[in-house]
Amino acid sequence: MTEMQTITIAKGDGIGPEIMDSTIKILKASGVPLQYEEIDVGEKVYLSGNTTGISEEAWATIRKNKAFLKAPITTPQGGGYKSLNVTIRKTLGLYANVRPCKTFRPFIPASCKDFDMVIVRENEEDLYAGIEYQQTNEAIEAIKLISKPGSERIIRYAFEYAKVYGRKKVTCMSKDNIMKHTDGMFHATFKQIAKEYPEIEAEHSIIDIGSARIAANPEDFDVIVTLNLYGDIVSDIMAQVAGSVGVSGSSNVADGRAMFEAIHGSAPDIAGQDIANPCGLLHGAILMLDYLGMSDYARKIESAALCTMEEGIHTADLYQEGISTRKVGTKEFTQAVIERLGKSPKNIKVRSRNASAINFKMSELIKEEKTLIGVDLYLDWSEDGRDAGVLGDAITGLTSDKFSFDLITNRGVKVWPGTMPETYRSDQWRLRFKSANGKINNNDIINLMSKVTEAGYDIVKTDNLYNFNGKRAYSLAQGE
Ligand code: NAD
Repeated sequence: MTEMQTITIAKGDGIGPEIMDSTIKILKASGVPLQYEEIDVGEKVYLSGNTTGISEEAWATIRKNKAFLKAPITTPQGGGYKSLNVTIRKTLGLYANVRPCKTFRPFIPASCKDFDMVIVRENEEDLYAGIEYQQTNEAIEAIKLISKPGSERIIRYAFEYAKVYGRKKVTCMSKDNIMKHTDGMFHATFKQIAKEYPEIEAEHSIIDIGSARIAANPEDFDVIVTLNLYGDIVSDIMAQVAGSVGVSGSSNVADGRAMFEAIHGSAPDIAGQDIANPCGLLHGAILMLDYLGMSDYARKIESAALCTMEEGIHTADLYQEGISTRKVGTKEFTQAVIERLGKSPKNIKVRSRNASAINFKMSELIKEEKTLIGVDLYLDWSEDGRDAGVLGDAITGLTSDKFSFDLITNRGVKVWPGTMPETYRSDQWRLRFKSANGKINNNDIINLMSKVTEAGYDIVKTDNLYNFNGKRAYSLAQGE
């Protein structure tokens, strides 16, 4: 017998309470051995003066229980309120965002061939880390931070997911033709880990052409693993193309804890009217049951919901003349699903899966030999008609025998030596210095910075240049 488990639930805002009531009613009617502990998150908590949208007591409950089923919440506009989703994801280290995405013809019109894929998106790193700076009047930058363990973990998760859920292929998407160090490491890690799963087909696609391939032939894809930002975009596009935004759920997973939700928002425009479709949150609950090892109940509920849809019993968002047989409200839909518990759909295939826990061991990280070989100094400079030649000559005069002054770039493009008048020059300049002969250390860099500063230049940022195991570990400038 399956053991009783306690999960955390939050009813959220807008249509949240209605669709959560519906979901819990269906869960209870299915006989699944779950108990529910409710917490408050969202608008009410934000407006009480808590800019995080979640209280300390709520955290304690979430931490105590293995799974958290969250209805959508409304983030008030303005006032510096933090996205609760991002806060929960980061605080709990929910590193994998898993979004099954499929078509449901003819009940949901789709603008593509039928498909059934799962997008596994890295959930904590990348530009999503939100590390941004403005240091000059014109230039603003964001740091794309990708770690080796973060990449290995999400890629292993995707392969293990494919194994546990009976999927045949994992496609990695990255942009390593341009970002050779960040995305390059992600792709290299994928290639390495794929060797450990010979039974699963592994392929890589550059994200731009890959996205075009997904849009044109989504049926060719099974599991997609990708970095945070690409995954965010691709998963939204595919849910939209499949027409399944209103019925899809997603999970945010770490080792030993996870959050499940609908992918749609709190729909304040239809709140309290008993017309919302509860299927998105119900799908989130189905993903949760698989995660908790309660797959029999997951299939029972999924079958009943698909049976209801197949019979043409639809909420207003899915209702179509000629296809639907009955337009129902949230409560009536809920009742229809409950009445069909134990039945299977005739035409829609329920993918059989007996999901077990996803467990894996990470590789031991090998420490590479790091050698400091130079530094990039960034200046805020807009004197002398922004003439790179003038800046180049002035800086050459300041360089000690420790460093060779190699080049100046502007927005990543080499502008000195050999400046091109057509290249646009912003007020942020990068000066690249390399060690001239032998070892350098941070003190040498500080001395160099002192000289440049004393000559009246405004250094706004530095990046050290390293070799790892003798290999260059920074990008060359365009034209370098
Ligand atoms: P939304 O998804 O709430 O609504 C978009 C449209 O889809 C609306 O017309 C809505 O009526 C309809 N819709 C959404 N879910 C539906 C359902 N289950 N049944 C029937 N119709 C449904 O997106 P939005 O309007 O951009 O955002 C509203 C609020 O939700 C915002 O405050 C936003 O910040 C928040 N939001 C929360 C989450 C979350 O908590 N995970 C996600 C996205 C948006």
